[in-house]
Amino acid sequence: MTTIADHLAAVRLRIRQAAEGAGRDPASVRLVAVSKTRPAQDVEAAFQAGQQLFGENYVQELTAKSAIVRSPVEWHFIGHLQSNKVKYLAGTVSLIHSVDRLSLAAEINRQWGQLGGCCDLLVQVNVAQEATKSGTSTEQALTLVRQVAQLPHLRVRGLMTMPPFFDDPEGARPFFRALRLVAEQIRAAAIPGVAMDELSMGMSGDFEVAIEEGATLVRVGTAIFGER
Ligand SMILES: *Cc1c(COP(=O)(O)O)cnc(C)c1O
Repeated sequence: MTTIADHLAAVRLRIRQAAEGAGRDPASVRLVAVSKTRPAQDVEAAFQAGQQLFGENYVQELTAKSAIVRSPVEWHFIGHLQSNKVKYLAGTVSLIHSVDRLSLAAEINRQWGQLGGCCDLLVQVNVAQEATKSGTSTEQALTLVRQVAQLPHLRVRGLMTMPPFFDDPEGARPFFRALRLVAEQIRAAAIPGVAMDELSMGMSGDFEVAIEEGATLVRVGTAIFGER
């Protein structure tokens, strides 16, 4: 049987090869192990194999799992987020990948403000404008970043996207590239307090292409934990 440790080693090797092939430092790409639907013991197994950073999609699942996991893991929230659930994330997650509207940002600002802290976040962009996916449009991204940057308890660190599904990962490349171009435009606007140093893009089926297009965070679930 192939274990989580074996899968992780294989994914890490593929990340390194993709980065080196693209002339990038492999250390500039962080692996977010997406543990949604998987039990806490799988998180512990991955941690024992050297994985510290995990991504979760559902608030309730994250709060339940993070209460069980004893190892000092770091959690990112990567799923669609309702404002009324934000309060459960404060103090638990170090980065929210999926901020797609100002009202959500305002609630994150309020909750982190109550903790006296600052929340790192990414703005999610729906590059293909798919009705089934969250995210602001490429046209609105700069405006949203400017608005979010006004809120004192938030720090915009970059952008996130989920392209349409393709059997051939090459199909996703134009969407990854488009996200990078949006990030470059925003960076050129030099908005105070805004860093554009993170691009969260690439999943099990297409993370190598995402790395070639500049991903700094790849979100990989199935290739590590198996089919859900
Ligand atoms: C589930 C999920 C992933 C991981 O997808 P895999 O194909 O299992 O690697 C990445 N990002 C988001 C936003 C997800 O919901």
